[in-house]
Amino acid sequence: MFELRKEADFYYENSDWKNSSKCFSNIIKQDKSPQVYIKLVKSKIKEGQTDSAKSILKEAIELYPRGYNFYRLLGSLFYDEQNWFEAIIYFEKYCKIANNKARSEVLQKLKASKENIRKHLLNSEPNINKKNKEKLSFNTGLISITYDDGRLNNYQFAYPLHKKHKVPATFFVITDRLFDNKLYKNFLSLSDAYEVSNFGIEISSHTASHDGTRLTEMDISKLDYELKSSQNLLKEKLNIYTKSLAIPYSKYNKQVLSHASKYYENIRIDGNKFNHPTNDKTLLVYSHPVRNTTTFEDIKKLIDQAATEKTWLVLMLHGVHDKQQKGAYDCDVATLEKNSFIYFIAR
Ligand SMILES: [Zn+2]
Repeated sequence: MFELRKEADFYYENSDWKNSSKCFSNIIKQDKSPQVYIKLVKSKIKEGQTDSAKSILKEAIELYPRGYNFYRLLGSLFYDEQNWFEAIIYFEKYCKIANNKARSEVLQKLKASKENIRKHLLNSEPNINKKNKEKLSFNTGLISITYDDGRLNNYQFAYPLHKKHKVPATFFVITDRLFDNKLYKNFLSLSDAYEVSNFGIEISSHTASHDGTRLTEMDISKLDYELKSSQNLLKEKLNIYTKSLAIPYSKYNKQVLSHASKYYENIRIDGNKFNHPTNDKTLLVYSHPVRNTTTFEDIKKLIDQAATEKTWLVLMLHGVHDKQQKGAYDCDVATLEKNSFIYFIAR
């Protein structure tokens, strides 16, 4: 054993990766120390056996769940393959464990991976918050999927589907609920919002409190608070600069719109209408609410119409449930996925 280790180290130091990988593969059968794993993995990588390196790293992680260098190496292998989702998973674990010892190289790669995902997702479908509206050419039909209220079930059931099919969406969150997750357990927490926003879900405002009072019934100071503070809090706590607002209950009047347009450029309401190009600075964005009676066929018809007429379809969803009982504006996972309009859009 001792001789074999000496031989392995000799090959390793002389960059004879084929032989060093062979020797360490034998050594690891008896000596499963982190050092042996690292040398074996590095030899495999140098030899070009990245698949094998990945499965050895996964085995090492099982044995040493706090061995942060294993996460770093595995993340880097996925990064080199441009598999950004997997790279982020392992880099984030690395950062969590390595804490202040985290290498800047990994932090940079983590940032780049997130940036790449964001670019990829934003390019694959139009987003409601596109800064330059003139870029919305309307040479083709456009579809945006939006969810109101920032419910926890959006995170649990809708977000995984969007991630899986690489289809972006907008979550219109009620910021008071986002920031007081102890009180509002059935809503997204700050860290949920942070996570989904890193995967191409746009976080936008659905006002601060959504407390039952319509915006049209509020005095100016309350109205201003609802509109301004939700935008500010997203900026301060999540570094998200949103210019999109979904008006609660779609209840608005002249006063509401004139205040809202001080802070927002896109104001989403219901209306069951498609959107057309406009040169207005402030854009009223009409949407089609999805109800618990809406079928995949209904949605497909809307999508087909947007495609034929080259207009912009915005779908408004609320809760997403895996079981039967659901509110009038809720939707079940089966409609989202089994019949799969997300999948349909992804194609
Ligand atoms: Zn709402």
